[in-house]
Amino acid sequence: MSKRVVIVGGGVIGLLTAYNLAASVEQVVVCDQGEMGRESSWAGGGIVSPLYPWRYSAAVTALAHWSQDFYPQLAERLFASTGIDPQVHVTGLYWLDLDDQADALDWAKRQGRPLSEVDIRAAYQAVPALGPGYARAIHMGGVANVRNPRLVKSLKAALQALPNVSLREHCQISGFAESQGRVTGVLTDEGQLNADDVVLSAGAWSGELLRTLGLALPVVPVKGQMILFKCEPDFLPSMVLAKGRYAIARRDGHILVGSTLEHQGYDKTPTGAALESLRASAIELLPQLAQAPVVAHWAGLRPGSPEGVPYIGAVPGHAGLWLNCGHYRNGLVLAPASCQLLVDLLTGASPVIDPTPYAPEGRLG
Ligand SMILES: Cc1cc2nc3c(=O)[nH]c(=O)nc-3n(C[C@H](O)[C@H](O)[C@H](O)COP(=O)(O)OP(=O)(O)OC[C@H]3O[C@@H](n4cnc5c(N)ncnc54)[C@H](O)[C@@H]3O)c2cc1C
Repeated sequence: MSKRVVIVGGGVIGLLTAYNLAASVEQVVVCDQGEMGRESSWAGGGIVSPLYPWRYSAAVTALAHWSQDFYPQLAERLFASTGIDPQVHVTGLYWLDLDDQADALDWAKRQGRPLSEVDIRAAYQAVPALGPGYARAIHMGGVANVRNPRLVKSLKAALQALPNVSLREHCQISGFAESQGRVTGVLTDEGQLNADDVVLSAGAWSGELLRTLGLALPVVPVKGQMILFKCEPDFLPSMVLAKGRYAIARRDGHILVGSTLEHQGYDKTPTGAALESLRASAIELLPQLAQAPVVAHWAGLRPGSPEGVPYIGAVPGHAGLWLNCGHYRNGLVLAPASCQLLVDLLTGASPVIDPTPYAPEGRLG
């Protein structure tokens, strides 16, 4: 296919879209206003599951399940071609003292997911570091986390090795070039960059950019803060989640604890209050963390969207413009299916899953 595609935003969504597109189109250019992959896709925790999967619509579930199955092979392929291992770490996940445990179990039964109620003593046996006082647990085996900073590094390296892909960092897009109802490129600081198709995957900034076309895309920045500890590699054998806060174990003993949900515009300054609150949650979940230093604390901006249902597909009335954005709290888990679906739609291939729920048509103001 003879096409030049410009992708706006090099987070996990833009980079993986480029990776999938490169096999089918002549040229792919990814522009990021900063460095590739250094925004939300770096800041996230990398749980390869929505935090409470039963609370989401079938639309989010469909993307999540396809992606969960695909993650191990994606990571293997990237590791083999770049030498950077995204470390898909399968630990399982325990939810403790959930209010809607019955809903979770019903959902799992309907969806055929391996989520079951476990005796709390079994949870304490499996995770000896768990704090006292929990009464109920449900467990899903097979849930993984991906080391997202390495995932984006590895995607960037894989793309740098492809002759028909160019990555432009520190290249801010300020709008779109249009001619007769068709988007023909993007506007950069250095002039216009022409394209047959443009994919908008600018995360939390996507709404701002679409506004330049007079379209209202309800994607807003939702700040999330995380803290990081370093423990022995066997300290936390499973991910755990209670009262909305979770601990994620990396293979080398790093433990991430998150996260806050804050509406602060584009401010992503880490705050002392969040640090204290996250540290208190960490110690409640895993009391030995009281003795561990917090080795890092950061914030990122999630691309918040109504119900967390992303926008994937063509923008009506602006031929040549495509959206892949608004993945909110689940952009890492939803990335493989979302990016495959967008590429299928753009190249006219048979879509990997039903595209209807994600179509921008009828969802833009
Ligand atoms: C604290 C926290 C925890 C999270 N935990 C998880 C989790 O456990 N599991 C999960 O699945 N998801 C998680 N997420 C959500 C996930 O990180 C996001 O949904 C995902 O990274 C969004 O990817 P993206 O590529 O759309 O956005 P981003 O990674 O933000 O990328 C967008 C890119 O667009 C660029 N850009 C913006 N405007 C312009 C412009 N005008 N011109 C050029 N470039 C531009 C930006 O520089 C940026 O690099 C978490 C997020 C946070 C903040």
